[in-house]
Amino acid sequence: MDMQTSLLDRLFAAGHLIDTGVDGLYGRGGAFEDVIARFEALIDAHAPADAKPEVIRFPPGMNKAHFEGSGYMKSFPQLAGTVHSFCGCELDHMNLLQCMAEGEDWTKEQKATDVVLTPAACYPLYPTIARRGPLGEGGGLFDLQSYCFRHEPSKDPARMQLFRMREFVRIGTPDEVMAFRADWMERGQRLIEAVGLDVELDTANDPFFGRAGKMMGNSQREQKLKFELLIPVTSQAKKTACLSFNYHQDHFGETWGLQTSDGAVAHTGCVGFGLERIALALFARHGLETADWPAPVRAALWG
Ligand code: AMP
Ligand code: ZN
Repeated sequence: MDMQTSLLDRLFAAGHLIDTGVDGLYGRGGAFEDVIARFEALIDAHAPADAKPEVIRFPPGMNKAHFEGSGYMKSFPQLAGTVHSFCGCELDHMNLLQCMAEGEDWTKEQKATDVVLTPAACYPLYPTIARRGPLGEGGGLFDLQSYCFRHEPSKDPARMQLFRMREFVRIGTPDEVMAFRADWMERGQRLIEAVGLDVELDTANDPFFGRAGKMMGNSQREQKLKFELLIPVTSQAKKTACLSFNYHQDHFGETWGLQTSDGAVAHTGCVGFGLERIALALFARHGLETADWPAPVRAALWG
Protein backbone atom coordinates (compact mmCIF):
# COMPACT_ATOMS: atom_id res chain seq x y z
CA MET A 1 0.00 0.00 0.00
CA ASP A 2 1.54 3.35 -0.96
CA MET A 3 1.90 6.27 1.46
CA GLN A 4 -0.92 8.30 -0.11
CA THR A 5 -3.47 5.52 0.14
CA SER A 6 -2.49 4.79 3.69
CA LEU A 7 -2.97 8.39 4.89
CA LEU A 8 -6.33 8.49 3.10
CA ASP A 9 -7.36 5.19 4.72
CA ARG A 10 -6.30 6.42 8.14
CA LEU A 11 -8.30 9.63 7.62
CA PHE A 12 -11.36 7.56 6.66
CA ALA A 13 -10.88 5.27 9.66
CA ALA A 14 -10.61 8.27 12.02
CA GLY A 15 -13.76 9.83 10.52
CA HIS A 16 -11.90 12.98 9.45
CA LEU A 17 -12.78 12.31 5.82
CA ILE A 18 -15.79 10.31 4.68
CA ASP A 19 -15.63 8.14 1.58
CA THR A 20 -18.30 8.87 -1.05
CA GLY A 21 -17.06 6.31 -3.56
CA VAL A 22 -15.53 9.03 -5.78
CA ASP A 23 -11.82 9.86 -5.55
CA GLY A 24 -11.34 13.43 -4.37
CA LEU A 25 -14.96 13.88 -3.22
CA TYR A 26 -15.23 13.48 0.54
CA GLY A 27 -17.39 14.31 3.48
CA ARG A 28 -15.68 15.98 6.43
CA GLY A 29 -15.96 14.98 10.08
CA GLY A 30 -16.48 17.39 12.97
CA ALA A 31 -12.86 17.42 14.17
CA PHE A 32 -11.62 18.09 10.64
CA GLU A 33 -14.05 21.00 10.26
CA ASP A 34 -13.05 22.37 13.66
CA VAL A 35 -9.40 22.45 12.58
CA ILE A 36 -10.37 24.38 9.45
CA ALA A 37 -12.50 26.85 11.43
CA ARG A 38 -9.68 27.40 13.97
CA PHE A 39 -7.11 27.79 11.22
CA GLU A 40 -9.28 30.37 9.46
CA ALA A 41 -9.46 32.32 12.72
CA LEU A 42 -5.66 32.14 12.89
CA ILE A 43 -5.46 33.53 9.35
CA ASP A 44 -7.54 36.49 10.54
CA ALA A 45 -5.26 36.95 13.54
CA HIS A 46 -2.19 37.03 11.26
CA ALA A 47 -3.67 39.54 8.81
CA PRO A 48 -2.43 43.13 9.06
CA ALA A 49 -4.43 44.85 11.82
CA ASP A 50 -5.05 48.02 9.80
CA ALA A 51 -6.21 46.21 6.64
CA LYS A 52 -9.98 46.08 6.56
CA PRO A 53 -10.84 43.77 3.66
CA GLU A 54 -14.34 43.69 2.28
CA VAL A 55 -15.70 40.25 3.13
CA ILE A 56 -17.59 38.51 0.30
CA ARG A 57 -18.74 34.89 0.13
CA PHE A 58 -19.75 33.56 -3.28
CA PRO A 59 -21.40 30.15 -3.66
CA PRO A 60 -19.38 27.33 -5.26
CA GLY A 61 -21.09 27.92 -8.61
CA MET A 62 -20.43 30.99 -10.75
CA ASN A 63 -22.05 32.82 -13.66
CA LYS A 64 -21.10 30.93 -16.84
CA ALA A 65 -20.65 34.21 -18.76
CA HIS A 66 -18.12 35.38 -16.15
CA PHE A 67 -16.34 32.05 -16.36
CA GLU A 68 -16.19 32.30 -20.17
CA GLY A 69 -14.88 35.87 -19.99
CA SER A 70 -12.14 34.89 -17.56
CA GLY A 71 -10.36 32.77 -20.18
CA TYR A 72 -10.32 29.69 -17.92
CA MET A 73 -11.14 27.32 -20.80
CA LYS A 74 -8.13 28.58 -22.76
CA SER A 75 -5.76 27.68 -19.94
CA PHE A 76 -7.33 24.87 -17.88
CA PRO A 77 -10.06 23.06 -19.87
CA GLN A 78 -9.06 19.78 -18.17
CA LEU A 79 -10.01 21.07 -14.72
CA ALA A 80 -13.32 22.81 -15.40
CA GLY A 81 -16.70 21.53 -14.26
CA THR A 82 -19.99 22.67 -15.78
CA VAL A 83 -23.50 22.29 -14.38
CA HIS A 84 -26.00 20.58 -16.68
CA SER A 85 -29.69 19.95 -16.02
CA PHE A 86 -32.65 18.15 -17.48
CA CYS A 87 -34.66 20.59 -19.61
CA GLY A 88 -36.82 18.21 -21.63
CA CYS A 89 -40.48 17.22 -21.96
CA GLU A 90 -42.28 14.21 -20.47
CA LEU A 91 -41.21 11.96 -23.34
CA ASP A 92 -37.58 12.98 -22.80
CA HIS A 93 -38.07 12.16 -19.14
CA MET A 94 -39.32 8.68 -19.97
CA ASN A 95 -36.34 8.13 -22.27
CA LEU A 96 -34.00 9.29 -19.56
CA LEU A 97 -35.47 6.87 -17.00
CA GLN A 98 -35.28 4.05 -19.49
CA CYS A 99 -31.63 4.84 -20.23
CA MET A 100 -30.95 4.79 -16.51
CA ALA A 101 -32.79 1.51 -15.99
CA GLU A 102 -30.76 -0.08 -18.79
CA GLY A 103 -27.50 1.20 -17.34
CA GLU A 104 -26.89 3.45 -20.34
CA ASP A 105 -25.58 7.01 -20.31
CA TRP A 106 -28.58 9.11 -19.21
CA THR A 107 -26.58 12.36 -19.07
CA LYS A 108 -26.06 13.04 -22.77
CA GLU A 109 -29.35 14.90 -23.15
CA GLN A 110 -28.63 17.10 -20.11
CA LYS A 111 -28.36 20.77 -21.14
CA ALA A 112 -25.82 23.31 -19.96
CA THR A 113 -27.21 25.77 -17.41
CA ASP A 114 -25.97 29.30 -16.70
CA VAL A 115 -23.85 27.96 -13.84
CA VAL A 116 -20.35 26.50 -13.82
CA LEU A 117 -18.48 25.28 -10.76
CA THR A 118 -16.13 27.89 -9.30
CA PRO A 119 -12.53 26.93 -10.14
CA ALA A 120 -10.83 29.41 -7.77
CA ALA A 121 -12.39 31.58 -5.07
CA CYS A 122 -11.35 34.85 -6.74
CA TYR A 123 -12.81 34.24 -10.22
CA PRO A 124 -16.32 35.59 -9.45
CA LEU A 125 -14.83 38.70 -7.81
CA TYR A 126 -13.26 40.54 -10.74
CA PRO A 127 -16.40 41.06 -12.89
CA THR A 128 -18.32 41.93 -9.72
CA ILE A 129 -15.90 44.69 -8.75
CA ALA A 130 -15.55 45.95 -12.33
CA ARG A 131 -19.33 46.50 -12.43
CA ARG A 132 -19.02 49.00 -9.58
CA GLY A 133 -16.87 51.35 -11.69
CA PRO A 134 -13.34 52.65 -10.93
CA LEU A 135 -11.87 51.71 -7.56
CA GLY A 136 -11.47 54.29 -4.82
CA GLU A 137 -8.15 55.80 -3.73
CA GLY A 138 -5.83 53.00 -2.55
CA GLY A 139 -7.62 50.29 -4.59
CA GLY A 140 -9.45 47.35 -3.08
CA LEU A 141 -8.80 44.47 -0.67
CA PHE A 142 -11.18 41.50 -0.44
CA ASP A 143 -11.58 38.48 1.83
CA LEU A 144 -13.09 35.43 0.08
CA GLN A 145 -13.74 31.79 0.84
CA SER A 146 -15.37 29.25 -1.42
CA TYR A 147 -15.56 25.60 -2.22
CA CYS A 148 -13.79 25.20 -5.58
CA PHE A 149 -14.06 22.40 -8.12
CA ARG A 150 -11.24 20.94 -10.16
CA HIS A 151 -11.60 17.77 -12.17
CA GLU A 152 -8.49 16.00 -10.98
CA PRO A 153 -9.65 12.74 -9.35
CA SER A 154 -6.86 11.21 -7.31
CA LYS A 155 -6.13 8.84 -4.42
CA ASP A 156 -3.89 11.56 -2.99
CA PRO A 157 -6.01 13.00 -0.15
CA ALA A 158 -4.41 16.40 -0.83
CA ARG A 159 -5.73 16.42 -4.40
CA MET A 160 -9.48 16.79 -4.05
CA GLN A 161 -12.13 17.60 -6.63
CA LEU A 162 -14.07 19.85 -4.24
CA PHE A 163 -12.10 21.78 -1.64
CA ARG A 164 -12.10 25.17 0.06
CA MET A 165 -9.90 28.08 -0.77
CA ARG A 166 -9.62 31.10 1.52
CA GLU A 167 -8.28 34.10 -0.36
CA PHE A 168 -7.28 37.68 0.07
CA VAL A 169 -7.35 39.61 -3.19
CA ARG A 170 -5.68 42.96 -3.82
CA ILE A 171 -6.74 45.17 -6.71
CA GLY A 172 -4.78 48.36 -7.39
CA THR A 173 -1.54 49.68 -8.85
CA PRO A 174 1.33 47.26 -9.61
CA ASP A 175 3.20 48.58 -6.53
CA GLU A 176 0.20 48.06 -4.26
CA VAL A 177 -0.32 44.50 -5.48
CA MET A 178 3.37 43.56 -5.27
CA ALA A 179 3.63 44.97 -1.72
CA PHE A 180 0.53 43.00 -0.68
CA ARG A 181 1.97 39.79 -2.10
CA ALA A 182 5.41 40.27 -0.52
CA ASP A 183 3.76 40.99 2.85
CA TRP A 184 1.63 37.81 2.69
CA MET A 185 4.59 35.65 1.66
CA GLU A 186 6.15 36.64 5.01
CA ARG A 187 2.94 36.37 7.02
CA GLY A 188 2.05 33.03 5.44
CA GLN A 189 5.34 31.48 6.51
CA ARG A 190 4.94 32.76 10.09
CA LEU A 191 1.38 31.48 10.18
CA ILE A 192 2.41 27.97 9.13
CA GLU A 193 5.36 27.94 11.53
CA ALA A 194 2.94 28.91 14.34
CA VAL A 195 1.16 25.57 13.87
CA GLY A 196 4.37 23.55 13.94
CA LEU A 197 4.73 22.76 10.24
CA ASP A 198 7.85 22.98 8.05
CA VAL A 199 7.57 25.36 5.13
CA GLU A 200 9.47 26.01 1.98
CA LEU A 201 8.74 28.92 -0.37
CA ASP A 202 9.26 28.27 -4.07
CA THR A 203 8.35 29.70 -7.46
CA ALA A 204 5.61 27.75 -9.20
CA ASN A 205 3.41 27.58 -12.27
CA ASP A 206 -0.20 26.70 -12.91
CA PRO A 207 -0.99 23.46 -14.83
CA PHE A 208 -1.73 25.16 -18.19
CA PHE A 209 -3.16 22.71 -20.73
CA GLY A 210 -1.28 21.31 -23.73
CA ARG A 211 1.97 22.18 -25.47
CA ALA A 212 1.36 25.95 -25.60
CA GLY A 213 0.48 25.65 -21.93
CA LYS A 214 3.94 24.37 -21.13
CA MET A 215 5.39 27.59 -22.49
CA MET A 216 2.90 29.66 -20.51
CA GLY A 217 3.91 27.78 -17.37
CA ASN A 218 7.60 28.40 -18.05
CA SER A 219 6.99 32.09 -18.63
CA GLN A 220 4.92 32.35 -15.43
CA ARG A 221 7.79 30.77 -13.51
CA GLU A 222 10.48 32.94 -15.12
CA GLN A 223 8.53 36.10 -14.31
CA LYS A 224 7.95 34.85 -10.74
CA LEU A 225 4.22 35.45 -11.07
CA LYS A 226 3.39 32.54 -8.75
CA PHE A 227 4.94 31.41 -5.49
CA GLU A 228 3.81 28.53 -3.31
CA LEU A 229 4.38 27.49 0.27
CA LEU A 230 5.19 23.80 0.21
CA ILE A 231 4.42 21.65 3.25
CA PRO A 232 4.85 17.88 3.72
CA VAL A 233 1.48 16.10 3.65
CA THR A 234 1.78 12.61 2.17
CA SER A 235 5.54 12.73 1.66
CA GLN A 236 8.55 14.54 3.13
CA ALA A 237 10.35 14.42 -0.21
CA LYS A 238 7.47 15.53 -2.42
CA LYS A 239 5.87 18.41 -0.58
CA THR A 240 2.38 19.78 -1.28
CA ALA A 241 1.50 23.37 -2.25
CA CYS A 242 -0.72 24.64 0.57
CA LEU A 243 -0.61 28.41 0.00
CA SER A 244 -0.26 30.28 -3.31
CA PHE A 245 0.75 33.87 -3.96
CA ASN A 246 -0.28 35.02 -7.41
CA TYR A 247 0.40 38.18 -9.38
CA HIS A 248 -1.90 38.35 -12.43
CA GLN A 249 -0.44 41.65 -13.70
CA ASP A 250 -3.17 43.37 -15.73
CA HIS A 251 -4.81 40.11 -16.95
CA PHE A 252 -8.07 40.47 -15.00
CA GLY A 253 -7.91 44.27 -15.13
CA GLU A 254 -7.83 44.21 -18.95
CA THR A 255 -10.34 41.36 -19.16
CA TRP A 256 -12.99 43.02 -17.00
CA GLY A 257 -12.12 46.73 -17.35
CA LEU A 258 -11.00 47.13 -13.73
CA GLN A 259 -9.73 50.68 -13.18
CA THR A 260 -7.77 52.39 -10.44
CA SER A 261 -9.00 55.79 -9.16
CA ASP A 262 -6.94 57.63 -11.80
CA GLY A 263 -8.36 55.57 -14.66
CA ALA A 264 -5.39 53.22 -15.24
CA VAL A 265 -5.96 49.51 -15.78
CA ALA A 266 -5.86 47.89 -12.34
CA HIS A 267 -3.48 45.07 -11.53
CA THR A 268 -4.54 42.17 -9.34
CA GLY A 269 -2.97 39.59 -7.07
CA CYS A 270 -4.22 37.03 -4.58
CA VAL A 271 -3.05 34.85 -1.75
CA GLY A 272 -4.88 31.51 -1.58
CA PHE A 273 -4.94 29.14 1.40
CA GLY A 274 -5.81 25.54 0.54
CA LEU A 275 -7.79 24.86 3.73
CA GLU A 276 -8.12 21.08 3.38
CA ARG A 277 -4.44 20.75 2.48
CA ILE A 278 -3.44 22.69 5.59
CA ALA A 279 -5.71 20.56 7.78
CA LEU A 280 -4.27 17.39 6.19
CA ALA A 281 -0.71 18.63 6.78
CA LEU A 282 -1.61 19.17 10.45
CA PHE A 283 -3.12 15.69 10.85
CA ALA A 284 -0.20 14.09 8.98
CA ARG A 285 2.38 15.87 11.16
CA HIS A 286 0.76 15.96 14.59
CA GLY A 287 -1.39 12.83 14.50
CA LEU A 288 -5.06 12.03 13.98
CA GLU A 289 -6.13 12.98 17.50
CA THR A 290 -6.20 16.76 17.93
CA ALA A 291 -6.22 16.42 21.75
CA ASP A 292 -2.70 14.96 21.47
CA TRP A 293 -1.25 17.74 19.32
CA PRO A 294 1.75 19.62 20.79
CA ALA A 295 0.75 22.27 23.34
CA PRO A 296 2.05 25.27 21.30
CA VAL A 297 0.05 24.11 18.28
CA ARG A 298 -3.09 23.63 20.39
CA ALA A 299 -2.55 27.05 21.93
CA ALA A 300 -2.17 28.68 18.50
CA LEU A 301 -5.38 27.10 17.23
CA TRP A 302 -7.63 26.82 20.29
CA GLY A 303 -6.16 29.60 22.48
P1 AMP B 1 -4.11 27.47 -7.08
O1 AMP B 1 -5.15 28.40 -7.65
O2 AMP B 1 -3.89 26.25 -7.94
O3 AMP B 1 -2.84 28.16 -6.72
O4 AMP B 1 -4.76 26.90 -5.75
C1 AMP B 1 -4.82 27.63 -4.56
C2 AMP B 1 -4.62 26.72 -3.39
O5 AMP B 1 -5.70 25.76 -3.37
C3 AMP B 1 -3.36 25.87 -3.52
O6 AMP B 1 -2.25 26.50 -2.92
C4 AMP B 1 -3.73 24.63 -2.76
O7 AMP B 1 -3.42 24.76 -1.41
C5 AMP B 1 -5.22 24.52 -2.95
N1 AMP B 1 -5.54 23.49 -3.98
C6 AMP B 1 -5.35 23.55 -5.31
N2 AMP B 1 -5.78 22.43 -5.92
C7 AMP B 1 -6.25 21.62 -4.93
C8 AMP B 1 -6.83 20.31 -4.91
N3 AMP B 1 -7.03 19.60 -6.03
N4 AMP B 1 -7.21 19.80 -3.71
C9 AMP B 1 -7.03 20.49 -2.56
N5 AMP B 1 -6.48 21.74 -2.53
C10 AMP B 1 -6.10 22.29 -3.69
ZN1 ZN C 1 -7.08 33.91 -6.62
